Amino acid sequence: MNEALPPSQVSAQRPAGLRPLDDALAEMLVAVNPLADIQSLPLAEADGAVLAQDLIAGLDVPGFDNSQMDGYAVRSGEALAGRVLPVAMRIPAGQFCGPLPLGAAARIFTGAALPQGADAVLMQEDCTALDGERVQINANAKPGQWIRRRAEDIACGRAVLKAGALLGPAQIGLAASIGYATLPVREPLRVALLSTGDELVTPGSIAPAQLQPGAIFNSNRYFLAALLRRWGAQVIDLGLVADTRKATLAAMQQAANAAHLILTTGGVSVGEEDHVKPAVQALGELNLWQISMKPGKPFAFGHVRKSAGSAHFVGLPGNPVSSFVTALLLVRPLVRALRGLPQEALTYIEATASQDGPKADKRREFLRARLEAGPNGKLGLRFFPNQNSSVLTSMDWADVLVDNPSQTQIAAGDAVRCLRISQLMA
Ligand code: AMP
Ligand code: MG
Repeated sequence: MNEALPPSQVSAQRPAGLRPLDDALAEMLVAVNPLADIQSLPLAEADGAVLAQDLIAGLDVPGFDNSQMDGYAVRSGEALAGRVLPVAMRIPAGQFCGPLPLGAAARIFTGAALPQGADAVLMQEDCTALDGERVQINANAKPGQWIRRRAEDIACGRAVLKAGALLGPAQIGLAASIGYATLPVREPLRVALLSTGDELVTPGSIAPAQLQPGAIFNSNRYFLAALLRRWGAQVIDLGLVADTRKATLAAMQQAANAAHLILTTGGVSVGEEDHVKPAVQALGELNLWQISMKPGKPFAFGHVRKSAGSAHFVGLPGNPVSSFVTALLLVRPLVRALRGLPQEALTYIEATASQDGPKADKRREFLRARLEAGPNGKLGLRFFPNQNSSVLTSMDWADVLVDNPSQTQIAAGDAVRCLRISQLMA
């Protein structure tokens, strides 16, 4: 009797029964944990990093009651319209003065600490300065008016930011406002990028007219690196790998040692020039292979062992649109999970097809399309005429991917659901 294979090996050998996209993604997300190491980053370098610990305020913000206006601090009971009060003190921002004498006003400026005893500020537009020493009140002061109270923004001891927060301009400003100069962040996710394919030529290494027959420029390397950087990963670009078992094994090992995640493009299909899958099986384990989606079927996921632990592995198809779309739908959430960011539900847009769609497919399809004005103020949608997975112009032209269920023929006038490509790239 045959020994039972572990489930991952079974799935890797199963030719039929492609894995549904949602199942594959769920399986991948269960298999990864957020990176554990913590680093300290200066505020100026923290944009885009992920906070590793709650950030606790060590002070109240504001730290003292202060004026919200340029004007006069008063006791509201004394500052009635028509009265003239002596100006007993002058308080610019940054100074702290003693108590406000009874029956007097204090000249005060925005952000300056309120003198003890004052309970309202009159803006200068509601007063007439008489001779520098007296002020005429033109409107009754209401208790509490134009005062920013101590701790009304942040109370000392509060966690103003939680671990896992994505640091952007607002979060960095907030951290500065409570006195932090450095922030504890998760170590950056390192992704090793490998391009496979003996036909590939690096742009710049040769003029387009000199390209040999059969050769093509490597495009995937550049859009994948750009996507990864947008998603906050550090890219370790290991360049081109020759289509041999030996070169693929060596590159895979090098990548595992350098990175948390290995991302390959090409060489993961079924031809005998496809060495990526066997290399992963030799050096680690292939947990998932082939997804029921178009474009993107030959997607693979697993891990490659290294001296300590293992690196995650994702094999993307070689066809540029397949590579792009699987990166958007599968690599992006994986990167978020590894960085310790929460998963976000994708926002679907509903539109009405302005024309018939391409022929229905067995697989769930992501069609490149563009939104346009439709009938009755609704959104219309046109399909890129060539939905071939090698046609990269479609990704430039399109602003959405239509999520078309398997075996579904779209006709003009049908409601379709789509995902904005710009959201998937953010
Ligand atoms: P493969 O998955 O390696 O069989 O490649 C599938 C198709 O994608 C072939 O036509 C390759 O030439 C093409 N391809 C693979 N890698 C790249 C790349 N990095 N840039 C552009 N096209 C690629
Ligand atoms: Mg290839």
